[in-house]
Amino acid sequence: MHFYTHNGKLRLIWHGGILPARKEKNIYEMDSKKDPMGRAIADYHQGKRTGKLRVFSPMFDEDEIPVETLFRKYEEMPEIERKALDMTRGRTLDVGAGSGCHTLALQQRGVEVTAIDISPLSVETMKARGVQEVKEQDFFTLKGKYDTILMLMNGIGIVGTLERLPDFFRHLDNILAPGGQLLCDSSDISYVFEDEEGFIEYPEDSAYYGELSFRMQYKETVGEPFEWLYIDADTLRQKAEENGYSVEVVAEGEHYDYLARITKAL
Ligand code: SAH
Repeated sequence: MHFYTHNGKLRLIWHGGILPARKEKNIYEMDSKKDPMGRAIADYHQGKRTGKLRVFSPMFDEDEIPVETLFRKYEEMPEIERKALDMTRGRTLDVGAGSGCHTLALQQRGVEVTAIDISPLSVETMKARGVQEVKEQDFFTLKGKYDTILMLMNGIGIVGTLERLPDFFRHLDNILAPGGQLLCDSSDISYVFEDEEGFIEYPEDSAYYGELSFRMQYKETVGEPFEWLYIDADTLRQKAEENGYSVEVVAEGEHYDYLARITKAL
């Protein structure tokens, strides 16, 4: 089946975040030879000529992520990301930190922030850019306690499928400090499946329309395929409540995207 987007696929990817998700419960270790986004981030940081960061998905035409957008400064960030940074407090974790754009903005404000990413080249670049606390680490095996956990650029996408959400919330039980908050953005991508007359036809082979699979390539570096979840706010709220959490939508973007604040239900 072929799908197309109204607003251009770039919006989807941008609000989709991207990236190498984990496989089952194993500790995810990424090989730097299979780290296309990390390679793009490293090239850009080193002032090398960057190539195309290409995104493939069986359901969409080939797309591209502009590498410079991964280095956005506070002023260049979408409003929902700026809002998330403004709401950040206490000991903070930036999950899937990429080039460290959010971590660095927080560090400048004096926030105590730790960045984690499974991409070895991104972690190397964050160190070179002056991120003080950074670890090559899979979120799902992380230990510690945090007052604010950030998952931006659709960072909750790393959960991959709805089915894995209960595991995600059980892990949150361990790493969210009492009174802590998780701030994440995602999008309702049902618009992608709308035809010219406004009818929506979802792909037949997926359990939920926001469960996508991607693969990325940068120059000669090809990544492993990964699953990535886009979740609408109602579904997120329902799943959170089933797992003892509350969801508050604190901001809405212009492209069906939103910022959610997730806290332990009282
Ligand atoms: N937050 C950054 C980067 C988003 S791309 C930004 O907004 O620009 C998503 C990032 O998540 C990638 O750098 C990817 O390597 C990382 N990632 C994917 N799965 C992960 C996991 N299980 N644990 C930690 N990081 C992960």
